[in-house]
Amino acid sequence: MLYQGVLTKMETESTSPINYFMHLGDEFVKVNDCIGKTIQFDLIGYQCLSCGDNASIFRQGLCKKCFFESPQAGSWIMKPEESKAHLDIEDRDLAFEKKMQLQPHIVYLSNTGGVKVGVTRKSQVPTRWIDQGAHQAMAFLEVPNRYLAGVAEVALKAHISDKTQWKTMLSQPEQSRDLIKQFNALKAYLPDEVQPYVIDELQVEELNFPYTPDGQLGVRQSLSENEPLKGKLKGIKGQYLIFDDYSIFNVRSSEGYVVAFNVR
Ligand SMILES: [Zn+2]
Repeated sequence: MLYQGVLTKMETESTSPINYFMHLGDEFVKVNDCIGKTIQFDLIGYQCLSCGDNASIFRQGLCKKCFFESPQAGSWIMKPEESKAHLDIEDRDLAFEKKMQLQPHIVYLSNTGGVKVGVTRKSQVPTRWIDQGAHQAMAFLEVPNRYLAGVAEVALKAHISDKTQWKTMLSQPEQSRDLIKQFNALKAYLPDEVQPYVIDELQVEELNFPYTPDGQLGVRQSLSENEPLKGKLKGIKGQYLIFDDYSIFNVRSSEGYVVAFNVR
């Protein structure tokens, strides 16, 4: 089957195992059904996810102009503590920032090859955890806006990583960690202004991906105009496709690339 469209991160369904879909043109391709088959991506152009131009993609699926101007790429996205909509202060588009920042946010611990702290909009749970390839995750704060989530994350970053250990996540057998115990050790470092938002009944979520790492990790593949990206699909974890030679492709890093996608 041949499909064509602009790549965006895979959509997911939090089933066990997790179901993955690529939205290409008008079609939804269930990526789990491609496991064991040879898949091929041919790069045929670019389409900025904000302005739609066929301009080369700079970062986060956006052309360079949009990355520096679009409200979708303000610094508060990567640095929640820089959120200012709660003060009525505009970064790039106050109406958009209010809509995005002034909504419930979760601060969580997740196990992505190591335990890390992270922030997400409450509406993005468990999508955010699936996207990063966390096999365990636990929300511990629910705050009313993005700024407070950022303040909490910054305070904890001094004591625990905020980075996904993606090489470990993709290659090493999944190990269980006691997230409740880890949180209890960190709790005292939370700033006073977020203490009232600690979640009473902590609950660890377990996520089951259609890939079981077995110690190996191959090279990172990327889309190129010179040759197709292809291989026999072995599994999916996070936003990564893993091929039978253990090479990997991070779908999310190629958002905004227009591809022809073929399954055989
Ligand atoms: Zn653009």
